[in-house]
Amino acid sequence: MLIERETQFGYHTTGRSAAVYLKSHGPEVIRALASGSQDFFLNPPEGFTEFPLLRPRGMLFVGRTDQIADLDRTAEQCARFVRGIRRLDFGEARAMVPVLREDYVAGAVLDPEAMDIDVHAVHQGFLRGLRARGGTSLTGTELIELGRNDDMFKIVTSAGTFAAPIVINAAGAWCDRVAAITGASPVGLTPKRRTAFVFEPPAGSAVDAWPMIDDVGESFYFKPDAGRILASPADETPMEPCDVHPDELDVAIAVERIQRAARLPVTHISRKWAGLRSFVADGCPVVGYDPRVAGFFWLAGQGGYGIETSPAMGRLSASLVLGRGVPDDLLALGVRAETVAPKRFLP
Ligand SMILES: Cc1cc2nc3c(=O)[nH]c(=O)nc-3n(C[C@H](O)[C@H](O)[C@H](O)COP(=O)(O)OP(=O)(O)OC[C@H]3O[C@@H](n4cnc5c(N)ncnc54)[C@H](O)[C@@H]3O)c2cc1C
Repeated sequence: MLIERETQFGYHTTGRSAAVYLKSHGPEVIRALASGSQDFFLNPPEGFTEFPLLRPRGMLFVGRTDQIADLDRTAEQCARFVRGIRRLDFGEARAMVPVLREDYVAGAVLDPEAMDIDVHAVHQGFLRGLRARGGTSLTGTELIELGRNDDMFKIVTSAGTFAAPIVINAAGAWCDRVAAITGASPVGLTPKRRTAFVFEPPAGSAVDAWPMIDDVGESFYFKPDAGRILASPADETPMEPCDVHPDELDVAIAVERIQRAARLPVTHISRKWAGLRSFVADGCPVVGYDPRVAGFFWLAGQGGYGIETSPAMGRLSASLVLGRGVPDDLLALGVRAETVAPKRFLP
């Protein structure tokens, strides 16, 4: 049984992402889990979706003269999972994205394997899969109390009381709140606001063929989005868990940073939003049984990577829930249970 407090699934962070599949960012374990998800996205199981889940996009990390070492490091660190990753000089970068400014961009790294991802299709595919296997999914159902008697949890929700031997805490920004209800120790999750908005590109510019452009120092990004441009200041403002909204200042900061790097006037913003990306101190996800509360399984701290890693994260979780350890293909990619275990936060 899957329970969701809101009246629709995907209302919070999952419905607010930038919809990118990348194997070239985040901690090593995230790059491994994204790599371990690629086959699923490219060849989803029968009935999962009628649409392609991934579409070629490419990612161009750009840097100033003082960020050349960061570009070199990015190219080197990501080579294991992105074989085609390569350094570009300014001329090569501008041939791909003609609006880049020569007085800002000194060099770039191209990840040719970055893709756009159809988040809605992925999410709906997983929900359909749950129901097809006899699972129940309830919206408008808030977990209120969780207590354990013998081998069972008593799960008190706004829509009735249920019993189950195992509870998976996948409450996004609220995971530490759910742990508090249960009596488990928090893992120190910090939800961080990230802002995104969409604007019209200059008339006549052929933006659809551009890759995504990401500052190697993570202070802005932008990418084509159905004929428009989706952009972000890559902000990480710590927040309490909530229905987060964008701050005008963050939008203005993004516009200013993007215009320093590219000749890209922003005259009309058609949509803006914000979502919470939740992290623990080491930036790695938290996946595994709580060491002190029997049957309480953590699936938290997916940060800015929860969509692109979802198939592998799901398989890893299912296998750990059943006590079968890390699946062999993920082990071969370097995923270790200790790296993600909640016990690393025990006082
Ligand atoms: C602007 C932005 C850009 C991003 N871009 C990308 C990207 O390009 N690629 C990528 O892979 N990732 C990206 N991410 C990150 C990705 O969206 C998240 O990692 C992922 O959505 C997290 O999913 P989740 O299920 O943990 O959280 P959520 O989607 O927030 O789901 C948690 C759910 O738990 C419910 N809940 C909480 N408490 C209770 C309770 N007591 N009872 C019942 N239900 C409860 C909430 O209502 C919520 O719906 C981005 C995020 C943002 C904000």
